[in-house]
Amino acid sequence: APEPTRQRIISDADLAGIWVTNPTRRLFGKSGPTKLDIAVYYASVGDFMLPHLFNRPVSLFRCPSSKLAECFFQRHPFTGMPPTVKSFATKNSEGETKTFITVEDAKAYLALAQFGVIEYHAWGTHERHLDKPDRVVFDLDPGEGIAWREVVNAAVYLKGELEGIGLVPFVKTTGGKGVHIVVPITQKLGWKEMHRASAAVAERLAASAKDAFVTTMGAQNRKGRIFIDYHRNARSATAVAAYSLRARPHLPASTPISWRDLESIDSPQDLNYTSLPPLLSTSGDPWADINESSRDLKP
Ligand code: ATP
Ligand code: MN
Ligand code: MN
Repeated sequence: APEPTRQRIISDADLAGIWVTNPTRRLFGKSGPTKLDIAVYYASVGDFMLPHLFNRPVSLFRCPSSKLAECFFQRHPFTGMPPTVKSFATKNSEGETKTFITVEDAKAYLALAQFGVIEYHAWGTHERHLDKPDRVVFDLDPGEGIAWREVVNAAVYLKGELEGIGLVPFVKTTGGKGVHIVVPITQKLGWKEMHRASAAVAERLAASAKDAFVTTMGAQNRKGRIFIDYHRNARSATAVAAYSLRARPHLPASTPISWRDLESIDSPQDLNYTSLPPLLSTSGDPWADINESSRDLKP
C-alpha cells in the first residue's frame, strides 16, 4: 500500500503513473488548491495541452513552497530537474551560449508539475526550427478602467484585421485580465522580420482607433485603453501556454476558446483547475486545427 504522504495518479491516457510527494500540501493559504489538485489537473488536460507544448522551449513558473511570494520563473536547466526533461543549447544575439528547456513527453510534463511547476510558458517556435517561428502572439493588456467586454470587442476587431491579411487567428484567455490572439504562421520569416511584421499589424490597429489602443509600454499610457503587446514575438520571449494554470488563488487557466464562445464568457477567472477539465471533455480542443491553419505572414 502507498505511504500515507504519497498518492498514485492514474490518468486515462496512461501517462506513466507518477508519484506526487506532499499531495495534501495547500498553496496560497488554508483553503487553496493542493499539490495533488494541480497534478490531477495537468494529467487530465494533457491530451489537450501537450500538442501545443511539445518541443517548444519553455519558461516555467515554479512554486516550491506554499507561498506565492516564493514562486519564480525558470527558463534554464536547474538542479533537481526531472531527468525526463530535455535541454538544448543555442547562441543568443550577443553570441553567448544559453541552454533552454523543452518538454518532449507526458512523463516530463507531469514530472515538472510534481516538482512544483504551476505555469508553463512557451516560445512561439519549436526547438527543431528554432529560428523560424510558427506562432505570432498579440497580447491584449487592458489598462485601468477597461471592462472584460471591451477586451472581447478588441479581440474580435483584431481578428477581422488579421483575417483581412489572410491569416487565421485563434484566441485564449490568459487566466489574468486580458486575452492572447495566437496566429499560426508558416515557418518562413526569422524572428526580427516576424517581430517587425507583428509591430506593423499592431501599429495599424492602434492608428485606426487611437482612443481605444496603445502600442507603447507604461501603465499611464494604458489608462482607459488596451495595450497591444506585440513584444512576445521576440526570440526567447514567451507567452503562457494554452491550458496552463496561473499561480493565483483559484488557479485560473489560460483557456483556448472558439471565437463563437468568446462572446458568451462573462468572467474568464471562472475557467480554472476545477471547471475546465469537465468542460473540455464535452467540447474538445477549440484549437485542434491550429497547426493546419498556418498561413504566410508577409514581412
Ligand atoms: P494578463 O492577461 O493579465 O496580461 P499575461 O499572461 O498576458 O496575463 P503579461 O504581463 O501581459 O501577462 O505577460 C505576457 C507574457 O509575457 C506572459 O504570459 C509571460 O509568458 C511573459 N512574461 C511576463 N512577465 C514575465 C516575467 N517576469 N518573466 C518571464 N516571462 C514573463
Ligand atoms: Mn497580457
Ligand atoms: Mn503583456
